[in-house]
Amino acid sequence: MLVSRYSLRSALILCCAGLLAACGPADKQQVSVISGKTMGTYYRVSVLGASKSQEAELREKIESQLKEDDHQLSTYKDDSVLSRFNQYTGSEPQPISQGMADAITTSLRIGRLTDGAMDITVGPLVNLWGFGPTKQPVKMPTQEQIDAAKKLDGLQHLKVIEQSDGTYLQKDLPGLYVDLSTVGEGYATDHLARLVEGMGFSDYLVSVGGAVVSRGYNEKGRPWQVAIQKPTDKENAVQAIVDLQGMGISTSGSYRNYYELDGVRLSHIIDPKTGRPIQHKLVSATVIASTALEADGWDTGLMVLGEKKAMALAEQQHLAVYLIMKTPDGFQAYMTPQFKTYIRKADQG
Ligand code: ADP
Ligand code: MG
Repeated sequence: MLVSRYSLRSALILCCAGLLAACGPADKQQVSVISGKTMGTYYRVSVLGASKSQEAELREKIESQLKEDDHQLSTYKDDSVLSRFNQYTGSEPQPISQGMADAITTSLRIGRLTDGAMDITVGPLVNLWGFGPTKQPVKMPTQEQIDAAKKLDGLQHLKVIEQSDGTYLQKDLPGLYVDLSTVGEGYATDHLARLVEGMGFSDYLVSVGGAVVSRGYNEKGRPWQVAIQKPTDKENAVQAIVDLQGMGISTSGSYRNYYELDGVRLSHIIDPKTGRPIQHKLVSATVIASTALEADGWDTGLMVLGEKKAMALAEQQHLAVYLIMKTPDGFQAYMTPQFKTYIRKADQG
């Protein structure tokens, strides 16, 4: 049996090469780049105008913020706050941080708006298909296994409680397993952007995996640019370039993290309704929103819905969305009018 796993680094490419006429500040400044690994992916922070000592301070703060985010949200670490909540089988409210409460509240809201397509309680199914902390299956799960995992699923079983003495998380299903992997990158990206802003910088580009926030100008005095990758296995094929203007962007793509089992390509995005990996023409969904967390929640929901429902919902909710579909004649792109305002270059080829 042939089993191979693919995981491309990121569907968003960070561009420093300017395609636009210079329109930023005239003085060229030094750019500091701080990068490394986190949450099974890479992070990169580019900041303009930092001194050597500020750069060292930034690095230290970034590392400790990422460590804290991972400690909150990771399902790969047994002692993270989320893992401990998943291990707990009671129904008493458990204390959580405000940040984690925000991530869950946003996820639950997007879950409701996507009619359960974005579902942070889909964890048992994610694990069954081999995309969680447990390894990939060597055999296709049976319908019985899928049905058993589906019984542990349901957003209605999870509640965020905000009280004057703090925020709490409560479940009414002992086996409920919360998986925040799909918003983890957006969550961390927002935190890093806030951290950089908090140190007084207003020209920066921050990314964690497929989530990015950028603001202001790069070292050439041009707006930072982010390229949406073509949905092929080649890393640097560019489909479109956007200027974020302080917003957050996130891409989810079924071509990015998958493996092949018995000749079938299995995506790491699971449709909670069928309990199986998604299989449709929509191969990539990119969303721009006021936060990377919001964008990261929507991109997964839209991927699960497939192109028709995703387009209808994006229009109804006035979302800035860019979808790429695979057709017999190649890739086809679709974008909402809201997304168009961020586009700098589009390649339909
Ligand atoms: P990536 O940025 O790597 O494409 P995504 O943001 O698309 O990741 O999230 C994929 C991850 O989300 C999966 O690995 C799984 O842990 C989780 N997941 C899979 N299906 C769903 C779903 N329907 N709703 C929420 N999370 C999901
Ligand atoms: Mg996502």
